[in-house]
Amino acid sequence: MIDTHMHADSRSGEDFGEMYLAGINTAITCSFYPFRIEHEMILLNHLNRILKLDTARAKEHGLDLKVALGIHPANANINPDTIFENLYKWIETKAIVAIGEIGLEDLTENEIDIFKRQLDIADETNSKVIIHTPRKNKREVLKEIMNIVPNHLDESQAVIDHINPNVIQDVIDTDYMLGLTVQPQKMEKEEAIAILDEYGFDKFLLNSDISNKPSDPLSVAKTIRELQRLGYRESEINKVSHENAEKFFNLNTV
Ligand SMILES: [Zn+2]
Repeated sequence: MIDTHMHADSRSGEDFGEMYLAGINTAITCSFYPFRIEHEMILLNHLNRILKLDTARAKEHGLDLKVALGIHPANANINPDTIFENLYKWIETKAIVAIGEIGLEDLTENEIDIFKRQLDIADETNSKVIIHTPRKNKREVLKEIMNIVPNHLDESQAVIDHINPNVIQDVIDTDYMLGLTVQPQKMEKEEAIAILDEYGFDKFLLNSDISNKPSDPLSVAKTIRELQRLGYRESEINKVSHENAEKFFNLNTV
C-alpha cells in the first residue's frame, strides 16, 4: 500500500513502524511548515530536513519515504527564488517525485503568484504537482485553482488533494488525479469509500495527511481493509492501494 500524502517531519518513528506493519510500504511526504516563516532559509532548512533526515528515520522503521517539496500556501510569505533554484536541482537529480504540496489557502496575491510560478516550473521540467485545497472555503478556492492551473500546466500532471463529498462534483469530469484524505475532522473512510463506489477507482489516490493536526497513521490501511471486507474486486482495490500512485508519480517502489 502507498500513502500518497503525509507530513513525516511532524510524526514519530513509531508511527512509521506501525504503518509498515499494517502493510504500507511506501509513503509520499510533502512540505508544510506549521509555524510562520520569516526568511526563506528557514523553509530551505525544513525542506532539506525532510529530504535527508525524515527519509532516513522512516527507513529505520521499514517505510520507504518518497519526497514532494515545494512552497505550501501557508508558507508563501517569503522571497521564493532560493527555493525555486533548489527545486530545479532536486528535480534534475530525481531527489523528489513531485512538487508539493502547493496550492492556495487564503487567496492572497503572494500565494497566487508563488502557486503559478511552481506550476510553470512543473510544466518546464515535466514534473507532477500535489495541490492542496483548504478546509475553509474549499469550493471557492478549488474554483480559483481550476481557473489557474490550465493556463500553466496540463491537468493530467496534477493531483488535487483533500477532495470530499461536498466538492467531488466540481472535479470529477476533469483530467486531474484526485486525492482522498482519510483523516479525523476531514473525511471518514466510509465517505471515501462512498466516493469510490460512485465514481470508480481510476482517478483516485488515497492518503492520511498525517501531520501536527489530529491524524491516523493507519487510515489508508483501514480504508483498504474495509474495501476488502466489503467485497470490492481486488483489481479495483489495487488501483487505490498502490497502482494509481505508482503510475502517476512514476514510482520505483520496493
Ligand atoms: Zn498535507
